[in-house]
Amino acid sequence: MGNQNTKSSIAIIGAGLAGLSCAKRLQTLGFEVQVFEKSRGPSGRMSTRNSDSWSADHGAQYFTARDPLFIEELTTWIHDRVAAAWNPHLKVYENGQWRESNPGEQRYVGTPAMNSPGKHLAKSIPVKYSQTIDHIDRKDNQWILRTAEDGTMKEHFDWLVLAIPAPQAFALSKLIDRSLSEKNAVDMLGCWTVMVCFTEKQDVPFDAAFINGEIISWLSRNNSKPNRQGLETWTIHANPQWSHQWIELDKDEASKQILECAKQIGLHSQNAQVSVHRWRYASGSIAPSPEFRLEKVFNLGLCGDWLHSGRVEGAWLSGYQLGNAIAVQATPPNH
Ligand SMILES: Cc1cc2nc3c(=O)[nH]c(=O)nc-3n(C[C@H](O)[C@H](O)[C@H](O)COP(=O)(O)OP(=O)(O)OC[C@H]3O[C@@H](n4cnc5c(N)ncnc54)[C@H](O)[C@@H]3O)c2cc1C
Repeated sequence: MGNQNTKSSIAIIGAGLAGLSCAKRLQTLGFEVQVFEKSRGPSGRMSTRNSDSWSADHGAQYFTARDPLFIEELTTWIHDRVAAAWNPHLKVYENGQWRESNPGEQRYVGTPAMNSPGKHLAKSIPVKYSQTIDHIDRKDNQWILRTAEDGTMKEHFDWLVLAIPAPQAFALSKLIDRSLSEKNAVDMLGCWTVMVCFTEKQDVPFDAAFINGEIISWLSRNNSKPNRQGLETWTIHANPQWSHQWIELDKDEASKQILECAKQIGLHSQNAQVSVHRWRYASGSIAPSPEFRLEKVFNLGLCGDWLHSGRVEGAWLSGYQLGNAIAVQATPPNH
């Protein structure tokens, strides 16, 4: 148990799925939390880009559910209409040949957009947006946070959760203790993403495809997902190794090479509207996965997909399990 006379105050950096699930779990257990997020909205890499006439999921494309706890959560999302099953016509391209993809596990997506489950979770959680935490410090067993936008906060916290990708957690935790940052050293690979919006429906014989051995590794028709509206838009992901090697490439040049590859495979983007996004930290995880980290000496927790399988489900589980672990250590709400 904690050694304060009042209940613990808990700050969480990052309103991706891991930070939100940690916050929700702690809230459910009676704790007060405050989440800080550098973007203008929640969901992190489960994200959707919107324009007046189209929208496209440009981070996570779909997710699967294996763990009973996550299946239970997903069931509530489906009930609340913020997620649904997605059954695309899925193909695989390899060595110049197409084949049908094995049906495999059931795939799910957020509805009407990939960021919908995150938005849904964030409704009941105090999140301060456009707040980039650029410095953390500890004084008298309290956490002191500084934001790039507003400087050092007056409010101090008993507990701190870093729910951010490994390289960003590395950069912050090394301000406290070098050994902490070494534990968080995971190489995460980037991902170049191109979104292509067409004014007419494309005659392409699949909804999504895994591409092996080419610059691109995935493309999908967003409008094949449930409840999507607007013009037909495709999301194309470059493969992680190529993206990592060329992450500093000029956006136009990256887009040109990716679209040329897509054209060879059958998606012609002539006259289409094109939008590009560079994910610096898209994928990567520690193996074997520790699920989360709890540094009791510092009252510090870390969660995120990189600690739990590198996927949407892992991010949610990592945050949830860290919430449980902190609840055991922190001063309880009725103290
Ligand atoms: C291109 C791409 C494709 C993917 N495809 C799939 C897929 O098909 N299936 C699947 O299951 N998963 C996929 N993933 C992975 C999935 O998106 C992640 O596993 C999951 O969303 C990670 O959630 P998280 O909360 O751990 O991290 P994030 O979603 O990255 O959340 C971290 C949050 O912290 C914020 N933040 C960072 N630093 C600071 C700071 N200093 N101050 C304040 N806020 C900060 C960020 O803005 C972000 O909102 C994909 C990811 C990408 C990028």
